[in-house]
Amino acid sequence: MQVAETAASSLRATLVSRRAVGPDAFILELELPGMPNDLAPGKFAMLSPAVGGTQQIARPFSVYDRPAANRFTFLIQVLGDGTRELVTLEPGAEVICTMPLGNGFEVAPAEQEIVIVAGGVGSAPFLKYVQDRIAAKAAATTHMILGARTADRLYDSEAFEALDFDLRLATDDGSRGFHGNVVQALGAALDAGELSSSAHFLACGPAGLLHGFADFARQRLLRAWLSLETYMGCGFGVCNACPVPTNPDGPLGAWPFARTCKEGPVFSLDAIQF
Ligand SMILES: Cc1cc2nc3c(=O)[nH]c(=O)nc-3n(C[C@H](O)[C@H](O)[C@H](O)COP(=O)(O)OP(=O)(O)OC[C@H]3O[C@@H](n4cnc5c(N)ncnc54)[C@H](O)[C@@H]3O)c2cc1C
Repeated sequence: MQVAETAASSLRATLVSRRAVGPDAFILELELPGMPNDLAPGKFAMLSPAVGGTQQIARPFSVYDRPAANRFTFLIQVLGDGTRELVTLEPGAEVICTMPLGNGFEVAPAEQEIVIVAGGVGSAPFLKYVQDRIAAKAAATTHMILGARTADRLYDSEAFEALDFDLRLATDDGSRGFHGNVVQALGAALDAGELSSSAHFLACGPAGLLHGFADFARQRLLRAWLSLETYMGCGFGVCNACPVPTNPDGPLGAWPFARTCKEGPVFSLDAIQF
């Protein structure tokens, strides 16, 4: 379910537009020529302002959408200085962009049921994934549970709602969709027989969500893949700042740690101790 790495370039991209999609998140559209056509969903970029940024280290973001061959969007939640400086850039500003990085998700064939579990900006790797599944005539076997604390943090859910597939929303406060978190929503759907435990399960979101999902998937013996949002330094395997312990009996067990930026960010659950 993961795909191989592609050679990355570090380029100056131009910020084309910026759009607020909730109380603390924005979609940035960058013009960036020369990227390969066949980018797997789940690949990421390291982004930093070309001028005026205070952070020494670029920040990692999943590629969200590709509205044109030379245009890429990123769905960015403001957490600290790095994200604040990116989302306050004005159109026309230049952004240093190193991409494509990481392995990404393999888009499974139509006969394989897929259940996506995403929270907040954890939806970012999956817009392209769902688009690719629909293009491969696999909409009927593609399901997604998208959750957030509150309805206004279901960032850009309209982009997913516009696609013809099984999308389920969940909010912790019950303000939209299922009342509870995405793992509770998943458990309810499996128990009701609406989703099958023989599906492949793909998850991305904040650490708490991913840990809850990983525990649930192990208890229910689900085949699962996680896209981790680990802290990163370089993004391309040199600084070793993003280790995740491997499972000695798993496919990466020959070495005790894997680098999230290089061997990930997508890992099968049986490959890592998480
Ligand atoms: C492969 C990958 C893809 C990502 N994709 C996206 C995306 O599409 N959209 C998006 O909004 N974010 C994404 N992230 C997370 C994003 O990189 C961080 O939110 C960002 O680096 C925070 O930078 P900052 O300077 O704003 O915050 P910082 O000042 O670095 O941190 C602010 C606060 O957030 C916490 N924090 C920051 N980063 C992390 C982390 N990785 N794990 C746990 N806590 C953290 C810090 O502890 C601190 O409390 C991704 C991360 C990875 C590794």
